[in-house]
Amino acid sequence: MGWISTDNEHEGWAAPVAPDGRLSASSTAGGMLFRGVTGHYPPDEMLPDYEVIPDSQIIGWRGQCECGWQGEMWERVTSRAAANFSHRRDYFALDEFATASSKVEDAIHDEWKTHIAPSEAVLGVEAAAREYTQAGHRLDKTVAAAKAAGASWADIGRAVGISRQSAHERWADKQ
Ligand SMILES: [Zn+2]
Repeated sequence: MGWISTDNEHEGWAAPVAPDGRLSASSTAGGMLFRGVTGHYPPDEMLPDYEVIPDSQIIGWRGQCECGWQGEMWERVTSRAAANFSHRRDYFALDEFATASSKVEDAIHDEWKTHIAPSEAVLGVEAAAREYTQAGHRLDKTVAAAKAAGASWADIGRAVGISRQSAHERWADKQ
């Protein structure tokens, strides 16, 4: 139901928040489903480990990720006058279905993207490191071929951009 990172390590969504702070991952006809049985709310008929909390009691929304990350709270207010997007307050009537509005969901999506930004960026490093290793192997092979064809260490060093001595130290015992 949520957003998935390129490496599949993160799945995030905008989770409705219960009055006791629990976060929901899904909903049912009677309201939002929350894992855990406190006895304060009716259990779900299909899932005995879950309670159903009516939409009217949802106090807000926050980002949640499978990895355990949680975003800051977006508070639900029940009067239009109290709504203030920059203060993370969104208006929702009590009789409305309490999934985050598209505006709040987009904001939470952005927060989640910031959360996964380091791991997404590391994927670029991984790809570059892979290419770097492959290029190193190709360099070793072409140096060996050049040496076999009669090139000197000075020729090879010049081609690589290093000294004759460095080229010799790097590849002489690989011949
Ligand atoms: Zn995550």
